[in-house]
Amino acid sequence: MRSYVSHLECAYSGERFDRGIVHTISTIGKPIVVKYDLERLSKEITRSSIENSRKPGFWRYSPLLPVTSEENMVSLGEVITPLIRLENLSTILGFEAESVFIKDESRLPTGSFKARGLGMAVSMAKELGIRHLSIPTNGNAGSALAAYASRAGIRCTVLCPDNTPEINIRETQIQGASTHIVNGLIGECGSIISDGMEEIGWFAVSTLKEPYRIEGKKTMGLELAEQMDWNLPDVIFYPTGGGTGIIGMWKCFHELKELGWIDCKLPKMISVQSTGCAPIVKAWEEGSEFAEFWENAETISSGIRVPSALGDFLILDAVRSSGGLAMAVSDEETLEIQEQVGKTEGLLLCPEGAAVVAAYRECIKTGSVSTNDSVVLFNTATGLKYPMPEVVSTIDKNNVDYSIFSK
Ligand SMILES: *Cc1c(COP(=O)(O)O)cnc(C)c1O
Repeated sequence: MRSYVSHLECAYSGERFDRGIVHTISTIGKPIVVKYDLERLSKEITRSSIENSRKPGFWRYSPLLPVTSEENMVSLGEVITPLIRLENLSTILGFEAESVFIKDESRLPTGSFKARGLGMAVSMAKELGIRHLSIPTNGNAGSALAAYASRAGIRCTVLCPDNTPEINIRETQIQGASTHIVNGLIGECGSIISDGMEEIGWFAVSTLKEPYRIEGKKTMGLELAEQMDWNLPDVIFYPTGGGTGIIGMWKCFHELKELGWIDCKLPKMISVQSTGCAPIVKAWEEGSEFAEFWENAETISSGIRVPSALGDFLILDAVRSSGGLAMAVSDEETLEIQEQVGKTEGLLLCPEGAAVVAAYRECIKTGSVSTNDSVVLFNTATGLKYPMPEVVSTIDKNNVDYSIFSK
């Protein structure tokens, strides 16, 4: 297989880097992104060759991905995640709208979209000969890294803050990572990893501290375009933590435009955070280029409990140049919507996914989005990994009171 990667560059300064060697962050400490020879790609690859690909899930986009050799594409049976139309919006949200879809990322290996980014990072680690990976996580990243690293035969160490959901810690361990609980925040776990790099020789796959998780996450945008017949929705709502997904989608929309594979208006990108941790929202409201550290971050949506994002300026750029916005919703609204969507649509959203549905409702109220807009809401993980309301009703098998069933 041929690679179309031309080089890599600092997403802030444009500093150039060669392909084929290990990279972390740029000289000025900003994320490095992958650049492709799109002119050559457009001559040699067609949309229909992608449509006819028999590779699993996101690997069908391999010409637009950084892995050069087929044997390095580590796969756990990825799928194209479905777009599910919300059919009972008037019950859930109190109004009708024709074209509102959930892109359900819970169907991916390890039950979250982290499989995309970490599947790519592990595959590139394999290609570049890295033998030991390490990650700080307070949620789904650890298990996705563990699963793909185990599959690839690469060692994996995961550090979790002690408020990480128990299920995420345990699933990570059983999928082969050496897993450790740290009495500190995610940033402090990250520091332990950077400080240990030289002594242990592991490679850190922290968000945006290596170039390839963005490439994996951009496949959400590629998939969406193909599923919509090479069109895009008017608006995308995305639960934003480190921002890899929003940055990746925005990157690939431009790549698709340059390739001439899409010709539509680009979607408004709406970045959704929690009122308990909303650094991007604050920066967006203040018109700042970068976001400040968010003190005492707290929300049930652990995937978006990220007080400081290395790619803040890229998230803010995607939001601003798309004509979108950044907004925060409370945990109460999130839980209310999660229950409503479960009861009326039969979909068990994760809190992060429920938060974007709540944000959509708010945008309709304020008029920033119209009920005529086509909308895609990202459900980024399975709700099964999170606490659920307890069942309290009990039945005595020797004395069944049938009246309770008609209530
Ligand atoms: C990691 C995570 C997010 C945030 O993703 P980013 O692309 O890093 O902003 C959202 N939801 C869930 C469930 C996650 O695990």
